[in-house]
Amino acid sequence: MLCQFLAASAMRSRAMAPDTDNRPVPKPWIAAIHAYVPGKSAGADGRPLVKLSANENPLGTSPKALAAREQALVPSLYPDPDSVVLREALGKLHGIEPSRILCGTGSGELLAVAASAFAGPGDEVIYVRYGFSLYDIVARRSGATPIVAPDADYGTDVAALLALVNEKTRVVFVANPNNPTGSFLPRGEIARLHAALPANVLLVLDQAYGEYVAPEDDDGGLELAAKSANVLVTRTFSKAYGLAGDRIGWATGAAELIEVLNRIRGPFNLSNAAQAATVAAVADQAFVDMSRRHNAAERARFVAAVEALGNHGLRAVPSQANFVLVLFEGALSAEAAYEGLMERGYITRWLPGQGLPHGLRITIGTAEQMDAIAEALREMAEAAR
Ligand SMILES: *Cc1c(COP(=O)(O)O)cnc(C)c1O
Repeated sequence: MLCQFLAASAMRSRAMAPDTDNRPVPKPWIAAIHAYVPGKSAGADGRPLVKLSANENPLGTSPKALAAREQALVPSLYPDPDSVVLREALGKLHGIEPSRILCGTGSGELLAVAASAFAGPGDEVIYVRYGFSLYDIVARRSGATPIVAPDADYGTDVAALLALVNEKTRVVFVANPNNPTGSFLPRGEIARLHAALPANVLLVLDQAYGEYVAPEDDDGGLELAAKSANVLVTRTFSKAYGLAGDRIGWATGAAELIEVLNRIRGPFNLSNAAQAATVAAVADQAFVDMSRRHNAAERARFVAAVEALGNHGLRAVPSQANFVLVLFEGALSAEAAYEGLMERGYITRWLPGQGLPHGLRITIGTAEQMDAIAEALREMAEAAR
C-alpha cells in the first residue's frame, strides 16, 4: 500500500515541472538570518596562510589531551549521552555541583539552546553593538527580535543595555571579554547589570575567553550563576584549551535552568574523542596557565607596538582576550593593512560586515608571528599617505 503510494507520487513528481510557487517556505525570522561568517584560513588564491583570524590557541593542545583522545572509545559506539565524567571533572575544578553543568557541541549550541528556551516570536533579546555575531543568529532562530545597544568606545555599556530592557525582554547576552573588541566588564559592572535586570530576564554571560582573564580580575560570573535563578555562564574548550576542532562547550546556572536546557540540547552532543580529550585537558591546568601567560605577555608586547604607531592613526582597543582589535584612523586603512598582511602570509579578521570597516581583529599568535605582524604594520603605516 505504502509502496504503491510512494511509486505513484514519485511518478507524479517526475512528470511535473518543479513548482517554484509551492515549496517549503522558511519562517520569516529564519529567512532573515545571515549565516555565521567564520575566520578564513586561506587567501583568495588558496595559498595557506598563518591563521590569526579565529582566536585559536597558537600553542596547540595539551599533549595529555591529545594522548587521551587516542584512547577514546571507538567511533562505532555511541558516546556517554550525559558527558558524566567531564561534568564531574569540571565540577571539581570550578567547585560546581555536576547537576548544574551542561555540555554542548561548542558553546555555540548552548547559546542557541538558551535563546530558544526563553525567547520566541514577540520577545526581545538584547546585546551590545560589536558583540559576538552569533547572538543575532540565535536570537532570530528562536523567532525573537534582536535589540542592539550602543557601545561605549567599543566596550559594553551596562547603562545602555539596561535602558533597552522592557516587558518584552527575555534574554541579555554579554560576552566578557567580548569578541571582536576584547573589552572586559569588571566584576562590579557585571553585578550592577544583574542587580538591575528583572528576575524573569535571563542573563547569559559568555566567558569563551574566561581562561585568558587573570584570576584576580575574575568577573564573578560563576558565583552569580551559583546563587541566581536567571544567570547562565557559558564556557568553551575552543580557545585557551586549544580544542576548537572537537567542538566542546559547557554552561552552568541554577539546577532548574540547566534541567530545562538539557531537554533541548542535541542527544549524544559530545563525541567519544571530545569527552576523552576534555577530561584530560581539565586535568592539565598547567597547559591552560601556560596559554594564559603566553597570551598576556605577547598581547602586551603587541599592544605596545600598535600604540607606538599612534601618530599614524593606529590604536588598540584594550583587550583581556587572546586577540586585539586594532583600529585604523589614519592614512593606512584596515582594508589595506588586511591585504598587506595577507601578501606577507598572515590572515587576520577584517570586519566590515560587523560595522567595523576600520578595524582588524588579530589573534595573538607566537612571539615570532607577532613580531612579523608588528613590523609589517609599521612598514605599511609609514609608507601610507
Ligand atoms: C569563540 C567564541 C565562542 C566559542 O564558540 P564554540 O562554539 O564554543 O567554539 C563563544 N562565544 C564567543 C564570544 C566566542 O568568541
